[in-house]
Amino acid sequence: MTDRLTPAQRHRCMSHIRSKNTKPELKVRHWLWRHGYRYRLNVKGVPGKPDIVMRKYRTAIFVNGCFWHGHNVEVRHSTSLQIANSECCKIPKTNRDFWVNKIRCNQERDQRSYKVLQENGWQVLVIWECQLKPAFIEQTMCQVEVLLQEYYLQTFSRKAKAYIHLEEDMPMAAEELAEYGVE
Ligand SMILES: [Zn+2]
Repeated sequence: MTDRLTPAQRHRCMSHIRSKNTKPELKVRHWLWRHGYRYRLNVKGVPGKPDIVMRKYRTAIFVNGCFWHGHNVEVRHSTSLQIANSECCKIPKTNRDFWVNKIRCNQERDQRSYKVLQENGWQVLVIWECQLKPAFIEQTMCQVEVLLQEYYLQTFSRKAKAYIHLEEDMPMAAEELAEYGVE
């Protein structure tokens, strides 16, 4: 990544971040599809334009490029960076302020999107480009699968759970209170 782009080119770069079928995003989609998961893309009415929307699991997946979204880069001030994994997101030395500012903007926008989704009951999963390298993709996607299933159970089986708790809760609660001396 260099800073040799004209401002107009840069702008185009940035505005296309979410609209392209990026290669990392395709890897995620193919994995999900092969494992029987169905999803939708560019769904209208879902805030933050997630890359992949899985309505059945009420889960929004963002596949983030490590550079553009500043993986492991904590931007504190416009020029001060904490880089935990410099292999992941290397800020160019030239025009550093420009890039730092861009990445910070993206991070802030990401956080806003995640928050709105979560407030509306969506699970937000962020998958980083580097987690999709051949050595890691299987492990990453297995974690995604676990999170999908867990959230599904948590969200959609509330009624069933509440019923089970009704039957079991009373004696258990009484015993625990006595044992631990909690008032
Ligand atoms: Zn990364």
